[in-house]
Amino acid sequence: SPARKFERSEEPVTYDDVAGLKSAKQDLQEIVEFLKNPKRFTKLGARIPKGVLLVGPPGTGKTLLARATAGEAGVPFFSINGSEFIQMFVGVGATRVRDLFKTAREASPCIIFIDEIDAVGRVRGAGVGGGHDEREQTLNQILSEMDGFEQTEAVIVIAATNRHDVLDPALLRPGRFDRHVTVDRPAREGRLGILKVHSKKVPLADDVDLEELAKATMGYSGAELQKLVNEAALKAAREEKRKVEMEDFYYAEDLIVMGARRDEQVDDEE
Ligand code: ATP
Repeated sequence: SPARKFERSEEPVTYDDVAGLKSAKQDLQEIVEFLKNPKRFTKLGARIPKGVLLVGPPGTGKTLLARATAGEAGVPFFSINGSEFIQMFVGVGATRVRDLFKTAREASPCIIFIDEIDAVGRVRGAGVGGGHDEREQTLNQILSEMDGFEQTEAVIVIAATNRHDVLDPALLRPGRFDRHVTVDRPAREGRLGILKVHSKKVPLADDVDLEELAKATMGYSGAELQKLVNEAALKAAREEKRKVEMEDFYYAEDLIVMGARRDEQVDDEE
């Protein structure tokens, strides 16, 4: 129904909540400035991208970064997930997209975030059925909404994917998602930053060495680092400690590494 509400984010987050990702933040700064004061740009005829694609592996902070961009600019944030549309009846996805853009225009300036855009935005016409499916209608609706709005409406669409190679080229055309921002797994300094952000409210024992943990967690995503801190805190709580100790972090690291191995085995069996 048209009255259906879209998720509007609760507590605002800012770039301070996003550790590392320096160049991604820099790339998005222009969007922040635009959303803060769209007229300053449109008066001079300066063109800001309508669509920005965040590209990177799962759990690297794409959603967080998009929310924080809205937070920095002080504008509303509306989000949907591309995978929501997969189970829908024909026409429902397109209607939902139309409602979303309508709501956003009325709240402009603002950000629309489409997570997992590849779920609807895969290259079209491939395979059986040849194309009038739900997914394609939804994608067409997204494209026509983006083509339809003027820059002066100050709605920026940010989409996230970890597979931009599978996206329909129509999505990447000028005036659509023509700006790409890479969101990589964090290097050591980034990992340290993420560990600091997530242990801010955790009482750490003196023996806890976050630098050491940052060194030992090569390949971890932000989401995995958050999990590391949380598992360590859970372990300490179960043992009724007053502070989280280094051994709790090592325990958590083992858990996560074993979990990852288990996932790999499942993959192998498939
Ligand atoms: P997915 O592709 O799975 O949707 P994503 O890239 O959108 O993942 P997020 O959902 O933003 O990742 O990240 C998951 C959680 O991991 C965040 O809520 C946050 O707590 C933590 N996280 C990830 N990256 C960072 C970061 N750079 N700084 C701080 N926290 C981070």
